[in-house]
Amino acid sequence: MMHFTRNKKKRMVMILALVMAALLCAPVCVYASEDEPEMTYVAVGIKYGSSAVDSCEMYSDYGFQIVDISDGMEETLPLPGYDHLVIEAENGMINVYDEDGATLVTDLGENSVIMTGDYLDEGMFTSSVNARTYRGGLKFHVRDNGDINVINYVSLDHYLYGVLHGEMGAHNPLESLKAQAVAARSYAMAERSSHKSEGFDLCNVSHCQMYYGVDYERERTSQAVDETSELVIWHDGEIVPAYYCKNSGGYTQNSEDVWGSVSGYLKAVEDIWSPEYEWTASYTWEDLTERIPDIGDVEDAYVTEWTDNGNVYELTVVGEDDTKVLKREKIRTTLGASLCKSLRFELEGGSGKTIVIPASVSVLGADGLETDREEIVVYGSEDESFEYDSLDGMVVLGASVEKTLKDKEVKSMASDEGITLTGYGYGHGIGMAQDSAIVMGEEGLDFEEILHFFYTDIEIDYVNGGYDE
Ligand SMILES: [Zn+2]
Repeated sequence: MMHFTRNKKKRMVMILALVMAALLCAPVCVYASEDEPEMTYVAVGIKYGSSAVDSCEMYSDYGFQIVDISDGMEETLPLPGYDHLVIEAENGMINVYDEDGATLVTDLGENSVIMTGDYLDEGMFTSSVNARTYRGGLKFHVRDNGDINVINYVSLDHYLYGVLHGEMGAHNPLESLKAQAVAARSYAMAERSSHKSEGFDLCNVSHCQMYYGVDYERERTSQAVDETSELVIWHDGEIVPAYYCKNSGGYTQNSEDVWGSVSGYLKAVEDIWSPEYEWTASYTWEDLTERIPDIGDVEDAYVTEWTDNGNVYELTVVGEDDTKVLKREKIRTTLGASLCKSLRFELEGGSGKTIVIPASVSVLGADGLETDREEIVVYGSEDESFEYDSLDGMVVLGASVEKTLKDKEVKSMASDEGITLTGYGYGHGIGMAQDSAIVMGEEGLDFEEILHFFYTDIEIDYVNGGYDE
């Protein structure tokens, strides 16, 4: 109740201010005072594509104002006394009505935004299209079929209020949240042309970043956004999409080793802060046959190449008719990224590399007696120490044998059941590992130290420059 009364009062004050302002600089004046810092805005699609609509309603306790965004934020029509607007798509135009159906604006256009009153501070509104509450305002993009994409036009920082808690829970250390805020802000700025043809910068799902609006705001995450306001990550004179993942498994990766493209700021680092995250995933040969069509029944799979820091780089899958070589992130997308949680795994059950042991080498069984088995399965990189396993699980080899084996002929032999992966980490392994960033915050590192640890050769600066790091 207190809240409501205060808003009413605020609205009265605003109406008076607007009337006076209108008298002084009619017909058009800039609403934001010159003392406000320059703010960056983003356009976030909240209903688009197949879920586009033909009408939309807006509700606000703060009133509304129509703002022209073609050059900054220029108020063109104050609507402070309205708490409910109806927007209709009609004959390729966007028309705005009051709740009684009286026309307020004909053909709003794409450079005009219906902002809530007090949008720089407390103002917010609710949209009928998804019953969520947002800051900023709405703009619309008319689609070829006459429907409209509904777009939340909101300051970059207010957008992050509605992103951050979904990316890193508000209970985490403030400096970790600040690092996440700067990374998410950089990502948003660098990716803001993703949906140009649809009339907005970013979508509201994980394709860009999950954005929930006011419902997901928390005090600490908003504090982290405010304390890093407008700060982003720069490399080579450009704002970069600061990729991040949940858990590195102990080593982050070069972008070229996962996605194929080189990025100067996405270099592998040994992640000494990474808390352990272990996972396993099993696939029968039938599972793999389903996932990898066109090579016949799958009967073997083994790792054929590793990155310099021990992640899987290449997986070879052998079918009855053909062989498929999967590289980099394609391995995870093929095996299912929710099962194969990272590329930092060991594979069991495939042939690995089976080595024919020369007659001169003694092979001992579990009973310690010499066995005449000639083939043993070897897991691991040829460059690193092998792990040995017999075909029947009984062979034991002395360390001295190891070197001799590396030069010998390789054959295939796989298990009947399929393969099991045992891995570490969660996600693509590139850029900031969130689990580690949380540990670093707990250990007293600040957000700049966290970001510099994960991103190579970067500067932290405002979107428009001028920050003294
Ligand atoms: Zn998107």
